[in-house]
Amino acid sequence: MSSGFGTRAVHAAQRPDPTTGAVIPPLSLSTTYKQSAAGEHTGFEYSRSGNPNRNNFEEAIANLEGAKFGLAFASGSATTATIVNSLESGSHLISVNDVYGGTYRYFTKVAANLKITTSFVDLSDPANIEKHFKPNTKLVWLETPTNPTLRVIDIKAIADRAHAHGAKLVVDNTFMSPYFQNPIAWGADIVIHSVTKYINGHSDVVMGVAVTSDEEWYKKLQFMQNSLGAVPSAFDCFMARRGLMTLEVRMQRHAENAQAVAEYLQSNEHIEEVIYPGLPSHPNHELAKKQQSGFGGMISFRVKGNLDNVNKLLSNLQHITLAESLGGVESLVEVPAIMTHGAVSPEDRAALGITDTLVRISIGIENKEDLIADLEQALAKAY
Ligand SMILES: *Cc1c(COP(=O)(O)O)cnc(C)c1O
Repeated sequence: MSSGFGTRAVHAAQRPDPTTGAVIPPLSLSTTYKQSAAGEHTGFEYSRSGNPNRNNFEEAIANLEGAKFGLAFASGSATTATIVNSLESGSHLISVNDVYGGTYRYFTKVAANLKITTSFVDLSDPANIEKHFKPNTKLVWLETPTNPTLRVIDIKAIADRAHAHGAKLVVDNTFMSPYFQNPIAWGADIVIHSVTKYINGHSDVVMGVAVTSDEEWYKKLQFMQNSLGAVPSAFDCFMARRGLMTLEVRMQRHAENAQAVAEYLQSNEHIEEVIYPGLPSHPNHELAKKQQSGFGGMISFRVKGNLDNVNKLLSNLQHITLAESLGGVESLVEVPAIMTHGAVSPEDRAALGITDTLVRISIGIENKEDLIADLEQALAKAY
């Protein structure tokens, strides 16, 4: 029987414990499993290779992304590293130019040492990618919407071009979560998430996951998951599976709040520009409507004035906390140029539009009236 997202978020892979009937699969901390005869076991041998809580989370997230297989890792970054480590030395990647800062760092400072090179390309126009393919291009790496300028990239157009050149497409779906966007359906071969963000959703677990329906890649990644060993703890898997249960209701609320806050900011005299794919003024609004089933909880905006005004705004906010990260139930605000994207060179920041007055908010699930009132009073005090 097919069922809706919210039903699957609650029930996928949740089989009552056969010994006690516990409705929630218990936390299984054992690192090893008794065998009935040498080599005869229940499917579990040693916890790095697999454990009940990890399998439970992996099966649930694969289901929600519409993929056959899921593999969990110690962080979103460990997920990226494990995928890239599966390539042969000498391989080439093409990445969207405003990729997550940690991914950029991994590609340029770590993968480069393994002689795996990366071309960073503006993929706003998918045709831009063509001249960057090389005979050894193995992967194309995409995030959409991008961070922090929330450009929406056409997944299907990039998937078609990658496949025509014999490359696979990896989509980092962290910003949308499987509730608003399923890249596999648009042709992506591997979808990854920083589970740390919306999937766990409560800012208390660092974890990552990759899903795929490509059996060859699944086997390769499973081998690497066990070989590199960057695996999450059973406790983190238990927490993330619990977070996943409420993903639908949280995402609906994040998006409802973000739409209201974005519209409010657009009307405020101190705001120069509001970037939110749910606004008709967003340059990729139509593509976002086609490719996503909602617009998510991330907003970026430029305030008038300078960094001094930004600092005054931030120091006067009361409900919205100044901190990095995103996707939690609480609203968080940050200044990308100084915080999350501080490691990007000033020239690259300028090219990407990451000015000192650009502010990013991860809109939480509080009451939208309170978030708007908070911004209103803090903006009034910033000038
Ligand atoms: C946070 C984040 C990552 C890295 O995930 P960690 O769990 O922090 O290692 C990767 N991609 C995106 C889009 C992110 O926001």
